[in-house]
Amino acid sequence: MASESNTLPPETTASDSAEPETALETARRQLTRAATHLDIDPNVVERLESPAKVHEVSVPIERDDGSVATFTGYRAQHDSVRGPYKGGLRYHRDVTRDECVGLAMWMTWKCAVMDIPFGGAKGGIVVDPKALSEDEKERLTRRFAQEIRDVIGPTRDIPAPDMGTDPQTMAWLMDAYSMQAGETIPGVVTGKPPVVGGSYGREEAPGRSVAIITREACEYRGLGLEDTTVAVQGFGSVGANAARLLDEWGATIVAISDVNGAIYDPDGLDVAAIPSHDEEPEAVTKAADELSVETIPNDELLTLDVDVLVPAAVGNVITEDNAEAIAADVVVEGANGPTTFAADTILDERGIDVIPDILANAGGVTVSYFEWLQDINRRSWSLEQVNAELESEMIDAWNDVRTEVEQRDVSWRDAAYVVALKRVAEAHEARGLWP
Ligand code: GLU
Repeated sequence: MASESNTLPPETTASDSAEPETALETARRQLTRAATHLDIDPNVVERLESPAKVHEVSVPIERDDGSVATFTGYRAQHDSVRGPYKGGLRYHRDVTRDECVGLAMWMTWKCAVMDIPFGGAKGGIVVDPKALSEDEKERLTRRFAQEIRDVIGPTRDIPAPDMGTDPQTMAWLMDAYSMQAGETIPGVVTGKPPVVGGSYGREEAPGRSVAIITREACEYRGLGLEDTTVAVQGFGSVGANAARLLDEWGATIVAISDVNGAIYDPDGLDVAAIPSHDEEPEAVTKAADELSVETIPNDELLTLDVDVLVPAAVGNVITEDNAEAIAADVVVEGANGPTTFAADTILDERGIDVIPDILANAGGVTVSYFEWLQDINRRSWSLEQVNAELESEMIDAWNDVRTEVEQRDVSWRDAAYVVALKRVAEAHEARGLWP
């Protein structure tokens, strides 16, 4: 058995404490449960319960008014047995060390389930990006790049956008790193603007993979997209791209939301006409009057009686408090960690399929991998090539996970973990422990 020191007691559930379940707790419980399906060395599981390294840095910047503010930044590196560490960089006031570790663990599984030769990492800065000017954000990013420059690099650890960061953030990071190195090193980050070595299709990729997986999940249940109703929580890059593609492919998007609330039309919303968060922040609720559609609270969107629910906003939105009220047949996780461990168990018992984040939104890191290949080879791919390769990678991963669902009679999450954990554990066994 794994040692007690790093293992949460299996009987611990979110209901044991008033505190909400953290990403790290959820990630560790998921790993412990997945390991029960496999005959792998317990020492390997024990190693995977903790990150290889966590870097914590202070990031002082000069504010526009001349004062100095100091922020805390993290880079958690979970596992690199299959390749360089890989994962996003988040600017959010709720970032914590543990959240970065939990999210880094998910990146290890996400890359492994996609069979991409990367490990898992995640970083962040504890900051409200809305409270910073563009210049302040640039200074923050460049100083953070300087503080972590020794632990990142194209063969070491490759950051990418996540909540609160975007292609511009990655361009600054790449520039700061390259200026110090004395040469342009585009492969140090992914999710850059195409003009500096970014990949076409990278920004849309997480949403595109959510749409592809939703289509496959519906087909698996014998449901054509033209007969499918979908509610999408969050209209940022993931939610908006998923909603627009599914709408284009014939599904009926009955509800979407932003941070202020949701809009609902049982006959379907024209999601192509509503600006995403990146195009115009919080435009969803503003569009309600113009479209003369009903507004409903965000919580209510989650419990709508639809075929597919796509939580694509923040983590921990489906908890044991609302899991009994979820009325969708399938939940496709667009966000990272939208379902707590306790809620997952309830949904599973209720026969609701939850297609996990590590598969559904893995299009982001998959196109990040394509971007990294393009950077290393100094050769750009067309959008058509990116989308065709992404489609094929997603279908391969879907089939690998589906096979485990069918052979082991386990949930989609456990099946995805089995695929990922098997690959990671085999790599650990092949490489061995040294020194
Ligand atoms: N932040 C994204 C994720 O959670 C992308 C990571 C990457 O491309 O490295 O999957």
